[in-house]
Amino acid sequence: MIKRSFFTLTKPGFSYDPIEPDLDKPESIPVPDNLILLLNEPVNHAKQSLIKKGAFVKKGEKLCLYSESTEYVISPVAGSISDIDIFLDALGNTSTYLVIKKDQNKNTDTITYNLKNDITSADKYLRTLPGAPPFKSLASKDNKINTIVITCTDTDLLETTSQYVASQFPTEIKQGAQILKKLTRVSRVCVTIPKGSKIKAGFDTMQVLETSIKYPSNLPAMILKDHLNIILPAGQTPEDVGVCFISAEAVCSLGKAYGTKTANFEKHLTIIGKNGKRHRVTASIGTSLSKIFKVFNIQINDDDRIIIGGPMHGSATYTLHHPVQPDMNTIMIQDKAVIQQISDSACINCGRCVQICPANIPVNILVRYLEADQYEDAADKYDLESCIECGLCAYVCTAKIPLFQHIKLGKHELATLKASSEELETANE
Ligand code: SF4
Ligand code: SF4
Repeated sequence: MIKRSFFTLTKPGFSYDPIEPDLDKPESIPVPDNLILLLNEPVNHAKQSLIKKGAFVKKGEKLCLYSESTEYVISPVAGSISDIDIFLDALGNTSTYLVIKKDQNKNTDTITYNLKNDITSADKYLRTLPGAPPFKSLASKDNKINTIVITCTDTDLLETTSQYVASQFPTEIKQGAQILKKLTRVSRVCVTIPKGSKIKAGFDTMQVLETSIKYPSNLPAMILKDHLNIILPAGQTPEDVGVCFISAEAVCSLGKAYGTKTANFEKHLTIIGKNGKRHRVTASIGTSLSKIFKVFNIQINDDDRIIIGGPMHGSATYTLHHPVQPDMNTIMIQDKAVIQQISDSACINCGRCVQICPANIPVNILVRYLEADQYEDAADKYDLESCIECGLCAYVCTAKIPLFQHIKLGKHELATLKASSEELETANE
């Protein structure tokens, strides 16, 4: 397998957006009558599920499909389950969507949890807090985490949600970080702050990693390389090398949850409308995006695009009813008139993708293997798994080849292939 050194040949010319100086108070979206929760396990209609249509659920109740399930969601409202079905994402992954019809009269009390001072207890109830804390990774015995990085930086262009949370809640983040240290017993906790940002003043008691404003400096692999002196090996995650990244919002939510012994559901989001105007929002997890668009009179027409995330590595959703998720920071709406069309033209070997790739991958050759569905060769010979998913290659491609989509799909297919061969091996043992 080729293992390329990880440095930039040509410095990309894109900069992250700083937080707006005149911060508007977020618009609080009312909790809708129906909430949609995505559970990361597909329902099997042939099996008896613990979640039943028509059943009453309490606010804060943990919902699992089967007694042996390890995945769960927490209901943000009291109400009844009105629908259970399969949800298919853009890569073909299946999960389950649950619709909960809010009961107007029973939404005062939230279930309290018996939270103990260990990470297993946090993982048992708080995995779906706003900011999606990585408690599953932190609690896993397979990971030996020695460093936690709290991110007050945004990973894509135009995004500012993490900076906003960091600027508004430094005390809560510091309190959450103390709890996190206690739960994990990890002594090294750092915080990323954009270089030159005033946010820094709020975190003077923590080790601050000041990240460059040049894209893609805030991606985990770049932070590992630039600040922790770790080159992430191909196909590995930061957790594999002992580092766990957690968003500022997740740390804040953790502090609140340990204070009240309950889950919280209010997610901070930035909505970027078709005209580029930013709207800062708080909405309950499970709120359909259509409800948020309605508040800002954002009209979605046929062939417009709704992107979850930013312009470089966000992913489009096909439904207006996609719910607000714990890890969702930004929603961008693109008018069909400005969407850059992709093409099925062949690569003209201009080399722009190779020049801009921060992981030094021969993208022009890699994509030929991906287009031919040769995922294992793409990984073994052309470093598919070294890609840090910055999306720069697709942005500059002269032939408008959807390089990033090919890469994402290639990684997904490769992971599926590996999982099936591992299953086969286990079955043959
Ligand atoms: S997305 Fe493209 S440019 Fe970015 S690391 Fe991957 S191959 Fe390189
Ligand atoms: S930028 Fe596009 S056209 Fe140019 S070499 Fe890369 S894949 Fe080919």
